[in-house]
Amino acid sequence: MTDADKTQIIKLKANGYGYRKIAAELELSENTVKSFLKRNSDACLVCGTAVIGRKYCSDKCRMTWWRKHPHRTSGMIEYKCEMCEKTFFAYPSKARRYCSKACYGKSCRKENRNDK
Ligand SMILES: [Zn+2]
Ligand SMILES: [Zn+2]
Repeated sequence: MTDADKTQIIKLKANGYGYRKIAAELELSENTVKSFLKRNSDACLVCGTAVIGRKYCSDKCRMTWWRKHPHRTSGMIEYKCEMCEKTFFAYPSKARRYCSKACYGKSCRKENRNDK
C-alpha cells in the first residue's frame, strides 16, 4: 500500500465510505483496508472526523481546541505573576514575569516610585 493509498483511505473514510467501498474504489483488498483502518483510525478531537496520526482534522479544529484548552497548548509553561501572584501559561521567556500588560504596567510604576 502506498502513502497515496493511505491518504485516499482516510479521505474516503472521512466522506463516510465503508471499508468495502474504499477497497473497491482503490482496488485494494478489503482486509488491507480493514486492518489499516483498525490500526490507524483516529478521530479529530474537535469534530470527530477520521484522521491518521493527528489529533485534529484541520488547522481550524486545532485552533478551536487550543482556544478551549489554552493551558495544554504545547510549548507553554506555567508562570506565577510577580504582581498579582496569579498563575498563568505562556511561552518560555526570561522577561516573562507578569500575567498581563496591566500587571507589568503596575510593576513599572512601582519600580519608578522605588527609584525616587
Ligand atoms: Zn475536526
Ligand atoms: Zn498579574
